[in-house]
Amino acid sequence: MPTHLEALRDSKYCPLWHDQNCRPEAQPALVGNTTCELLIVGGGFTGLWAALQAKERQPDADIILIEKTLIADGASGRNGGFLNASLAHGETNTDHHFPGEAQRLYELGEQNIKELLETLERYNIDARYEKVGETSVATNEGSVASLRESYEREKADGEDVVWFDRDAMRAQVNSPTYLAGLWYRGGHNGIVDPARLCWGLKRVILELGVRIFEHTGLDEVKPLGRDRMRALCDGGVIESDKVLMATNGFYNKIRKVRRAIIPVWDYQIATEPLNEEQLESIGWHKTRHALSNDANMFHYYRITADNRITWGGGGAVRYYYNRGTGADCADIPERFEQLSREFFETFPQLKGVRFTHRWSGIIATSTRFCMVPGITYNGRVAWSVGYTGLGVGATRFGARVGIELLGYQPSDVIKMKFVTKKPMAWVPEPARWIGVRLTQLALIKADANNGKRGLWLKLLDMLNLGFTC
Ligand SMILES: Cc1cc2nc3c(=O)[nH]c(=O)nc-3n(C[C@H](O)[C@H](O)[C@H](O)COP(=O)(O)OP(=O)(O)OC[C@H]3O[C@@H](n4cnc5c(N)ncnc54)[C@H](O)[C@@H]3O)c2cc1C
Repeated sequence: MPTHLEALRDSKYCPLWHDQNCRPEAQPALVGNTTCELLIVGGGFTGLWAALQAKERQPDADIILIEKTLIADGASGRNGGFLNASLAHGETNTDHHFPGEAQRLYELGEQNIKELLETLERYNIDARYEKVGETSVATNEGSVASLRESYEREKADGEDVVWFDRDAMRAQVNSPTYLAGLWYRGGHNGIVDPARLCWGLKRVILELGVRIFEHTGLDEVKPLGRDRMRALCDGGVIESDKVLMATNGFYNKIRKVRRAIIPVWDYQIATEPLNEEQLESIGWHKTRHALSNDANMFHYYRITADNRITWGGGGAVRYYYNRGTGADCADIPERFEQLSREFFETFPQLKGVRFTHRWSGIIATSTRFCMVPGITYNGRVAWSVGYTGLGVGATRFGARVGIELLGYQPSDVIKMKFVTKKPMAWVPEPARWIGVRLTQLALIKADANNGKRGLWLKLLDMLNLGFTC
């Protein structure tokens, strides 16, 4: 059996992060009817951060959080754990969609990460944060040139960046595919254990008096008179003054939210803990970089506290026709086989290592490739969704925007274009599926062609629609 298939043979379908004995007991499901001031729907980072920040701003706020399955069961407990300050997915994207706001968004992103880390400290949440920055590696000559350009630009802007040529990069992390690397060392970017972060936030909001109902899905939300909302849930009805939808890539009852985002599936695998010899063969345990390759269909990979490697992204990422989010999209052998094959191309010296876990999750992608906040029903229902691939840090800010829109100490942030500008809606099917697939194939082709972009991608670049996850 080929190495990459053999390596997956005994893996189990379960996010590595969920498979820990510190997973908290589930809170009981809703039984009967109840009322509250603020109902939060969704127990991922957005919902949890919203509850915490609302409580900090208004300690007597009566808040309920409902979660369809379990806290951290969505993207928040399934991601790579790359903590990044970016709120709007890079300078070019920011300038195009929010002209004049780049500097403010940069500062807000840095402030958000700083406050996030201070919150972990304050409430004693051990999310296994490691301040390792982020490192981009070049695996073809086109990307050596583009990374070098980025290095020169960042350096000129006074950023704390380090350039690695081929040998220097391989001395940091040894892969025969690496031709150069760029380490963004400044700021607070790094890695976390995402499930521990969710579970820590869960503990804190319970301590602050938030009621959590797990295994409680929202079925329908409707106005009740002039000032209240009525949420029909599994197990009962919740009447509230305000509702925050923190459901991200999952089906949303509100049409405006549905039109703003599409669910994109991302797949990951994790190795067993590496032994001394395996660790020495790559040397990564000494530097612990958070890595991704500078490509359109990029892989992101990192080392865990117990020296496993988690590996995701690449060509396995998929949008399924008509917003597929069902279980049939989750555990698809070909996706994991592709990931495994690409892993061994990067680290052939790890031949023989086994993958213990494989899993998948849903990224919500908006046409502006960053979060989409909004409000409806006369200011009673808000949302923050669509973080695309950068939500570990940005969700805290999305939650802040969501609760400010609902009146919890609003600031001038909610007057920014970033919040008020309506996103372009995704086109209907079948054009949506065809467009996403065409783009993905064009991106794969560009990666194989030294990064050279074809006509379709050039057209999308002109419209600032050049990537999908
Ligand atoms: C595989 C993968 C890797 C990623 N890697 C990274 C990374 O390394 N760094 C990074 O910054 N970002 C990453 N992301 C993105 C990041 O994880 C997300 O942007 C972020 O977790 C979104 O948080 P959320 O709370 O908005 O959504 P989610 O975590 O998806 O939470 C939404 C919750 O709502 C619940 N829900 C849905 N419908 C209902 C309903 N009707 N009633 C009640 N509850 C409902 C769901 O069950 C779910 O728990 C990754 C995403 C994936 C999938």
